Amino acid sequence: MERSIILLAGAALVFSANVSARKLEEAYHLIPGSVPMDKGPDGNSIFLDAPKGLILVDTGRHPEHAQQLLDYARERGKPIAAIVNTHWHLDHTTGNADIRAVYPAAQVYATTAIEGALKSFLNKGREQAEKRIADPKTPADERAQLIRGRSRIDNPDTLRPTVPVTKSGTMKIAGRKLEVHVAPFAVTEADLWLYDPATRVAIVGDLVVDIVPFMDTACPDGWKKALEEVAATPFVTLIPGHGAPMNRAQFLQWEQAYDNFVDCGHSTRLKEECVAGWKKDAAPFIDAEHSGYVIEAATYYLDTRLRSSPEEQQKYCRPLR
Ligand SMILES: [Zn+2]
Repeated sequence: MERSIILLAGAALVFSANVSARKLEEAYHLIPGSVPMDKGPDGNSIFLDAPKGLILVDTGRHPEHAQQLLDYARERGKPIAAIVNTHWHLDHTTGNADIRAVYPAAQVYATTAIEGALKSFLNKGREQAEKRIADPKTPADERAQLIRGRSRIDNPDTLRPTVPVTKSGTMKIAGRKLEVHVAPFAVTEADLWLYDPATRVAIVGDLVVDIVPFMDTACPDGWKKALEEVAATPFVTLIPGHGAPMNRAQFLQWEQAYDNFVDCGHSTRLKEECVAGWKKDAAPFIDAEHSGYVIEAATYYLDTRLRSSPEEQQKYCRPLR
């Protein structure tokens, strides 16, 4: 009896040593975001180890998400040395300020697309937020989220890069070499995605969103081109902006679903057919919780981005002002 307890204890020790060794060797550490039905989403956040500390890709929207990121860094005993924002959407950048409040030396790598967004999309969003905040019927959770978002728009340096990235190339971030890709006119005016040749991991932000492409500020054809560039790298694992990591076959299936949806949108086929096509093509990526939402969202993006006036369709295919 005693012996087996000792053996078990020994096994437990070996097990935990293996776990922590594996943790140090992880190619990446994912803190998953979510797309809840009753409030705004959080994008995925990804940690990479670097000589000077941790690299953090995207910082989420809600304070609880930011807290998880800070907890992970504390647990690792390493500072967050750099933040990379894949794009300016607030479900990927709102947490920047929370992270930099604790790690003020953290550099922020992003494109300069935020500048056009501040003048247009975010400025307009702020006006709408004001109205919702003033409305006594607005639920408390939503009000808190809107106030948090407004505070970022009012302090735009919390959203801006400290190291603007204007072209693709190999960069040293926190002492670690990474391939940094700029994708013009895709999810936003300029998205940023990473490829790490050492681990063959691609981190692509909202160029891939499992349940439905979030096209609010998208140039659909530029996005398609960006997906082709992602496919051209020899990645083994791809981490989307929302949803679980994908292997190459899964990514190619999602890319095909995206292409079919955009092609259908540009055709004269019935809207319902395009939406049903998306649901069918992307079925492996759509969970039961979101199956109704996906129909609404896909219909909305067809109306607003793919089948709106020619001028409106091109709105995000040129610089915002
Ligand atoms: Zn997102």
